[in-house]
Amino acid sequence: MKRVRFRRLPAAAMLVLLLTFLMAFSAFAADGWHRKGSRIWYTPVSGESVRAIGLTQINGHTYYFNKSGYLRTGWIRIHGKYHYFRTTGKTGVRGRMYTAGLRKVLRTGPYGFSADGSVMSGLCQVGDSWYYFSTSRKAGVSGLMLKRTFANTSDGRHIYLLKNGKMAVNRWVKYKKKYYFFGADGNMYRSTVTPDGWKVNARGIRTKRASAAEVAGAAGSASASVSNLRKAGTKASTGKASILIICGHGQGDSGALGKWGGSWIQEQAYTRDFGSRIYRSLAATGRVNVDMLDTSLDGYTQVKNTLNAVIVSGKTLQSRIEGKGTYGAQAYNALRSNGRLPDLLQYDYVLEVHFDASAASGKDYNGNGEMKGTFMYVNSRKSATSIDSSIIGALNGLGLPICGPAVWRSSGLLNARVFQEMGISYGLIETCFIDDRDDMTFYHQRCDDMAQAVSQAIVNQFG
Ligand SMILES: [Zn+2]
Repeated sequence: MKRVRFRRLPAAAMLVLLLTFLMAFSAFAADGWHRKGSRIWYTPVSGESVRAIGLTQINGHTYYFNKSGYLRTGWIRIHGKYHYFRTTGKTGVRGRMYTAGLRKVLRTGPYGFSADGSVMSGLCQVGDSWYYFSTSRKAGVSGLMLKRTFANTSDGRHIYLLKNGKMAVNRWVKYKKKYYFFGADGNMYRSTVTPDGWKVNARGIRTKRASAAEVAGAAGSASASVSNLRKAGTKASTGKASILIICGHGQGDSGALGKWGGSWIQEQAYTRDFGSRIYRSLAATGRVNVDMLDTSLDGYTQVKNTLNAVIVSGKTLQSRIEGKGTYGAQAYNALRSNGRLPDLLQYDYVLEVHFDASAASGKDYNGNGEMKGTFMYVNSRKSATSIDSSIIGALNGLGLPICGPAVWRSSGLLNARVFQEMGISYGLIETCFIDDRDDMTFYHQRCDDMAQAVSQAIVNQFG
């Protein structure tokens, strides 16, 4: 800087010079942007003429430069996916890639953009809602958001997109003077009774109020009517018994934490580990049918969200359920509409696998030589709990202590309450304590024997 020369100039001249210098510097040198006519380019290294080429991050935005280093705008296909780069705006704004969200493009759209800038197509989640983006091409590019129309998803759901583009969930939709109902997963109800008691025909059109018998019939259309929802703990009348295993937590919920070998371990991983071992062991016996809930799901979240979305006389179905059986049919209907859950009435026993954790003062990451052990939670209204106590007894037989009473009765656990409401036998096992080194040492050494013991107890009861 030649400050000495500036000082000799009059103040006004000095200011003009300084401003000219700053403007030139900011527009063409310091920030690296250059423009000549319609051509725009960027030099990442100050003072050098090397131009940016390809996808380039500048001040938190992404731009695309062609092989000669000139900025490109509009729809550009990169690695087979379309991205959109602003066609208007001053230098530095023009050419910015659209990311993460719904954006209009030249007054058409909106289109949905994922975090990496690629345009969405088909059924996609943005924020908390689901939208459907055209899979057919307009102007060479698919991805236009659909509104006020039906669509078929790639997994076979018949859905409806509301006027704001959101997928209709757990609600009625009026379309061309007819009413249609869409469930928790957005799928249209057909030839059944809706959670609020209306009949819909094979085309999904609402016809009339269902009678009590029809509500009951719809609830059990797959396997039983409401009047004979199974009594907890009883065996299915025909064929092999069916068992469902749910691995606790997951879907973003790690569950309890423990420490092993200097690292944190998560309950959700261990519930899947033990659940899978029980599943394999049971399947190997051939004595019962066994299913495992999709392990990418958290059974609790699925049940809670589905039942929360159904309103019965001004309150959520979830809050109405006490395990008394009053809302068994509604609960079953609602859960049946969640396409990610199996038909729950087919199961004779549902075992949800968890690992426990102690209060802060009771954590024993280093091992004090004493195990805390295992127990089962059941709903406080469950009558026949011999299967639950036999499972805990079998584990105890291997040397794992029983923590308190073998079977704890609880009115609080949502899944225990909901299965009780539907008349399905359910137990939530706290396999052992994930934050107790002694328990986890036992688990790591004996997990296959433990799975075998659980499986044997189940086969003894139901096989
Ligand atoms: Zn848990």
